[in-house]
Amino acid sequence: MIGPPGSGKGTQAQILASALGVPAISTGEMLREAVAAGSELGRRVQGILTSGALVDDATMAAVVRERLAQPDAARGFLLDGYPRTQEQAATLKEILAGSGEDLDAALLIEVPEGEVIQRMAGRGRADDDEAVALARIDVFREAKPELVGYYRRQGLLREVDGDQPIEQVTSDILAALGDAR
Ligand code: AMP
Repeated sequence: MIGPPGSGKGTQAQILASALGVPAISTGEMLREAVAAGSELGRRVQGILTSGALVDDATMAAVVRERLAQPDAARGFLLDGYPRTQEQAATLKEILAGSGEDLDAALLIEVPEGEVIQRMAGRGRADDDEAVALARIDVFREAKPELVGYYRRQGLLREVDGDQPIEQVTSDILAALGDAR
């Protein structure tokens, strides 16, 4: 699932995971948990998370590789917040190819920036501080064209209007996934 911070990726991933019977894997959530637990990974990424920048690709690849190897991901999964760059997308393809798999779809949730900024102002997370929120939106805007282009070329891209009520976005996503499910 691809979308700016505040686009509803996390909310939709949770809803879809129970509808589809697969785990929703949020790399942001995994990193926040690592920070809260004070693990080696958490200590390493803490400053990066509070700045709104991206954690390095090698670290993210290790986190995702390990998570996708868990038994609950064997029959499918939703990835929320990974990949965020074309480089990560290529790495993910390699990780999945290692077990003879590939993605079924890349879902782009489109929400206008002004709306995203308003939503984040009401969310109250540590990295939703206004300056950091704007930095996170910049990071997404920067990486988006290459990332989206990568999946469009592979014929995997599905686009959904995320600027609608939650239930409508969910049903549009399920319709967009159609043949991929
Ligand atoms: P999220 O909850 O997806 O918005 O992620 C919160 C923060 O975790 C991001 O601002 C990044 O610092 C970090 N993060 C999550 N996923 C990734 C990723 N795929 N690549 C790099 N950093 C990530």
